[in-house]
Amino acid sequence: MKLTVLTLFPELIEQIIGSSITGRARDAGLFTLETVQIRDFAVNRYGKVDDYCFGGGTGMLMMAEPIYQAWRSVQNKTAAAADPDPDAGQSPQMAACRSRTIYLSPRGAVFTQAHAAKLAQYDQLIFLCGHYEGVDQRVLDEIVDEEISIGDYVLTGGELAACVVIDALLRLVPGVLPDESAYTRESHTAGLLEYPQYTRPAEWHGHVVPDVLLSGHQANIERWQLTMARLETMCRRPDLFNRIQMDAEAWQQLIDAVQREK
Ligand code: SAM
Repeated sequence: MKLTVLTLFPELIEQIIGSSITGRARDAGLFTLETVQIRDFAVNRYGKVDDYCFGGGTGMLMMAEPIYQAWRSVQNKTAAAADPDPDAGQSPQMAACRSRTIYLSPRGAVFTQAHAAKLAQYDQLIFLCGHYEGVDQRVLDEIVDEEISIGDYVLTGGELAACVVIDALLRLVPGVLPDESAYTRESHTAGLLEYPQYTRPAEWHGHVVPDVLLSGHQANIERWQLTMARLETMCRRPDLFNRIQMDAEAWQQLIDAVQREK
């Protein structure tokens, strides 16, 4: 997977994605990350990339042309890498390359785990980070496939949002996490929140770990985990709980768990 971020602050992206699990996955060659400094495509030699909004309003808007040229430079590089002989027509590699350009924006669809799973299927993702008051609509109309918001609030720039999206989708790329079960059993993967988890010691400050987890009986442990995941979801996120299907036995196990927790 090839990730490219168009930004005025590449160091933010490099620092976050270059650290910890994503940094190790990058070093292992599981994906490539390129940051493109939009200012390198400024409209004048003073590095101008923003201007006043037509119609008034406070703040500056990122101009269309530097962003368009930054994006074109990525497209040209991708085409040249996949198709060293453009006169021969589009190569099979180029035709097969599934690429998407995403603008991080508070107006976008709110990002979810299902969305992360879809993005993890692409060969190439290009992220555009806005700043100031945002971006001239015309370049968005020309280059962007979709807009993603990381929540109903406004950030100063798209860089943190891009890192959130990149981090969430990279966890789903094979090999980034040591074991697939690390994400297939997590919150939001099957529409449920995660059950409570415990590590050693078995007793801490007078609180003990549930007996079933110490029993070694795998079927009982898994049943307990599923029931507790349903209970957590019911209590914390009734909106998610209302969407899940449960048979009579599952309801009974949930009722028993509620009685035990009382
Ligand atoms: N004027 C814009 C509006 O009202 O929708 C907000 C611009 S915001 C200050 C600057 C940049 O931060 C945006 O262009 C976008 O890239 C990014 N941004 C802000 N909030 C975001 C969010 N919730 N999700 C994703 N990106 C966000």
